[in-house]
Amino acid sequence: MAYKTTYPYTDEVLHEFPNATDAQVEATLAKAHALYKKWRKEGLAKRQATLHKVADLLRADKDKYAEIMTKDMGKLFTEAQGEVELCADIADYYADKAEEFMKPTPLETQAGTAYYLKQATGVIMAVEPWNFPFYQIMRVFAPNFMVGNPMILKHASICPASAQAFDELVKEAGGEEGAFTNLFISYDKVSKIIADKRVSGVCLTGSERGGASVAEEAGKNLKKSSLELGGNDAFIILDDANWDQLAKTIFFARLYNTGQVCTSSKRFIVMADKYDEFVALVKDAFAKAKWGDPMDPATTLAPLSSKRAKKDVLAQIDLAVKNGAKVVYGNELIDHPGYFVMPTILTNITKDNPIYNQEIFGPVASIYKVDSEEEAIELANDSSYGLGGTVFSSDPEHAARVAAQIETGMSFINSGWTSLPELPFGGIKNSGYGRELSPLGFNAFVNEHLVFTP
Ligand code: NDP
Repeated sequence: MAYKTTYPYTDEVLHEFPNATDAQVEATLAKAHALYKKWRKEGLAKRQATLHKVADLLRADKDKYAEIMTKDMGKLFTEAQGEVELCADIADYYADKAEEFMKPTPLETQAGTAYYLKQATGVIMAVEPWNFPFYQIMRVFAPNFMVGNPMILKHASICPASAQAFDELVKEAGGEEGAFTNLFISYDKVSKIIADKRVSGVCLTGSERGGASVAEEAGKNLKKSSLELGGNDAFIILDDANWDQLAKTIFFARLYNTGQVCTSSKRFIVMADKYDEFVALVKDAFAKAKWGDPMDPATTLAPLSSKRAKKDVLAQIDLAVKNGAKVVYGNELIDHPGYFVMPTILTNITKDNPIYNQEIFGPVASIYKVDSEEEAIELANDSSYGLGGTVFSSDPEHAARVAAQIETGMSFINSGWTSLPELPFGGIKNSGYGRELSPLGFNAFVNEHLVFTP
């Protein structure tokens, strides 16, 4: 596994990092475990102050961290700045809420008195992806730090500078040795860490393949796991949708982060009588994309994260077309060393087209035509994924009734996807299990310890 930053805009290798040795892995586990034992005897005040300090440093050095992410995986600098702010908010949220979340919970029983405590369980191994290099780490780090679970990170091999910067950030904020450790390690070493008795759980955000492999290792070793995988989110436009609002939403819903978001809207489902009008609306939105230097605030479409990502997305468009789909916009080559893919619209995707059930992790929208609301719901649910989805209607109750019938972990009404510290994030089916963020994310690796007195 080579950990290196290749700037997706220029195709230049900017940094390379050596892999951790077995001795470094062992030292990390030993320190993290010792800290877990120490934290079990301590209150929350010190960690609370450290986590607030993490938030302060993020805000103070926002541009520094944003540029590291842009150089690692190519995202727009302006979007990276937003990501740093969101990370600071997540840190503050858990620092502020931990005391309330940790309170013993009384239980009603006729047999005596009972309550459960929330306690730390041990070291957590987190395997994270490149699409939001800081946010993906923070979603695991902030709650577990407050719970008292030290964290070991294996980040994506294409964003090592972000991983290292996060490690330095926690130390600069006063995080003790072992509280958070980034390790540049192979899959094999991840497996060994999961199997280690000092580790109590593992979480992964990424592909189904990666998730299945890590969960298998966790299962073999009877460790708790949490997975946040891909999505093929439906965006349903009901008859009574507000078209002005729709027009304002499409760009963000599909092209934010160049479409490399698990909860991006990927399948647009529209009633037959509004189909042509909707295709025209998406074309208009996509035509506004201005590809270019991700550091330039005027750019609205960044390159994809890697040469492989570009190759994969282009191959998927090709596969879709070979099986009968039509390209009604885009799919023209952009002549630049950066890993750009032009925003593309696919239509006429039939159920037997292999792309029907594939997530396209890039700037590609698939548009489907249906004759009724029931058909829209059926199509939305005809997916192996179940992460999020959007329903558009000028009647929010109508939208909510439809949303409740969609088999996913999250629904967004009259908006694209969103992520806030206080809202749970996660899915069902092949999109994984478990939740991050919110009180639910706080409980992911907590021991709910019953204390009963008859
Ligand atoms: P991967 O699952 O390959 O990578 C995500 C993380 O998992 C990386 O750190 C990767 O390491 C690691 N990893 C992968 N397999 C293993 C394994 N067997 N053992 C230990 N660690 C492992 O995803 P990709 O980057 O290849 O993206 C492919 C697809 O994943 C996307 O098309 C999308 O569907 C989904 N994805 C979803 C994301 C989300 O936010 N839910 C984010 C990113 C991707 P390394 O980089 O070293 O290979």
